Amino acid sequence: MFAGPIDFLKGVVAMSGLPPADRVEVCFAGRSNVGKSSLINALTGRKALARASNTPGRTQEINYFTAGDTHYLVDLPGYGYAEAPVAVVAKWQALLKSYLGGRQTLRRAFVLIDMRHGIKKVDEEILKLLDRSAVTFQVVLTKADKIKTSEHEKILTQVRAALQKHPAAYPEIVVTSSEKGDGIETLRSIIATMS
Ligand code: GDP
Repeated sequence: MFAGPIDFLKGVVAMSGLPPADRVEVCFAGRSNVGKSSLINALTGRKALARASNTPGRTQEINYFTAGDTHYLVDLPGYGYAEAPVAVVAKWQALLKSYLGGRQTLRRAFVLIDMRHGIKKVDEEILKLLDRSAVTFQVVLTKADKIKTSEHEKILTQVRAALQKHPAAYPEIVVTSSEKGDGIETLRSIIATMS
């Protein structure tokens, strides 16, 4: 795993607030309620960690966590809030675009998709942005415990098919359940071995 503790570093609202690009960095994206905080908590083994980024006022920030001395884990705000004001969404999209297009040390984006729902229209927006930004993204299916194991392969086939049209997609999909712990170690080692 990471050599050292995982800690909340800061919430960033503008490119000027980003920490120095001196570590390997991965980010996490997903529509609100997809299970992003639960996954980050499971990954880090620290229950209250991602809650810090889910408190009101922090939801539109890019939240940085330090993982040992070598990695940053970056929690991007959840998208798809129907009720978010247009101006807030526009500001957030501009920051996201600058971040994805300009962060040299960003190695991969993990896009979380609820395994029950698959890739939806709201997810396609971010996938297209990742394509345009040439940021490799890997799909992480969440809440696998809510789906019968016998259904997994069918869903994986659908998701793989949807990824065909995305040049930035990493072919391997990670199936996870934060509730049961499935896929967490796999994801951890994917990140830890990234350099
Ligand atoms: P976020 O908005 O993406 O940060 O989502 P949360 O992590 O807050 O999770 C949203 C809801 O889904 C909560 O009620 C969680 O308890 C539930 N949830 C998250 N991950 C899992 C999972 O792996 N399995 C199950 N059954 N529920 C989950």
